[in-house]
Amino acid sequence: MPELPEVEAFGRWLLPQVRGQCIDTVEVLKPRLVRPVSVFAFQQAVEGVRIQEIRRRGKCLLWDCVRPSGEAELLVTHLGMTGSWRMLPGHGPLPRHAAVVLGIGEQRVVLEDPRQFGHLRLGNAAVPELGPEPLDPCFTPELLGKALAHGRRPIKVCLMDPSRLAGVGNLYASEALFLAGIDPTTPVHQLGFEAIGRLHAVLRTLLESAVERNLQALRSDRSMLYQQQGVSEDPSEGGLWVYDREGQPCFRCGAPIIRFMQSGRSTFQCPQCQLAVK
Ligand SMILES: [Zn+2]
Repeated sequence: MPELPEVEAFGRWLLPQVRGQCIDTVEVLKPRLVRPVSVFAFQQAVEGVRIQEIRRRGKCLLWDCVRPSGEAELLVTHLGMTGSWRMLPGHGPLPRHAAVVLGIGEQRVVLEDPRQFGHLRLGNAAVPELGPEPLDPCFTPELLGKALAHGRRPIKVCLMDPSRLAGVGNLYASEALFLAGIDPTTPVHQLGFEAIGRLHAVLRTLLESAVERNLQALRSDRSMLYQQQGVSEDPSEGGLWVYDREGQPCFRCGAPIIRFMQSGRSTFQCPQCQLAVK
């Protein structure tokens, strides 16, 4: 599932290429993505708008646009489980799972989504209520501590709760807890300031380097890198420490990585490097 770095990188890469340009055409090949609005109504709302800004909030991209009438229009896009963006020339075949195609000048910005859990919505009401942004300059260890403070749920579950922290999903939560040496089952109220400080530092580094790697991928082949997989086995080059590595040896200690379920999602952990911490 695309998380904060994939969405952030795409927004940063796309904005300078489309700022000030109009979305001339809108093709909706999978109507499910624009529901509850009809395809016709969606096209009516979006065709002809001029793109002013593209921002990210959590895993959403917010497209600030202005209609020919001067009225503001906000397009909120979410990639769901399997969505990804791709920039293509104005003509030629579309990818097999193309769901929505935005014609912008000589180019087409295509949302591909095999499982169709992504969505495109209109207006401020479509912007989700979310916790703090981990890449925000104001995001401090104190703020992370406050976001995680209440309750007794496991730290991994809390990190993935968008109302506590924006944009972090299963992959980056698993990787961050490994790098911070924290057992994913630790109840949040048991984490001391030192552990929170470590977690804050690794989250920032992990997410920032993933944004950079995604930007490089976009610059080389104009499509989104799907998470970090397939880049390299080596974690220092974008490979993964624990995520999706069940049974394989830990890169630090050699112990087999374990997998178990937390709130319906797989958690990956090195049982030796991630011990209970206070
Ligand atoms: Zn280990």
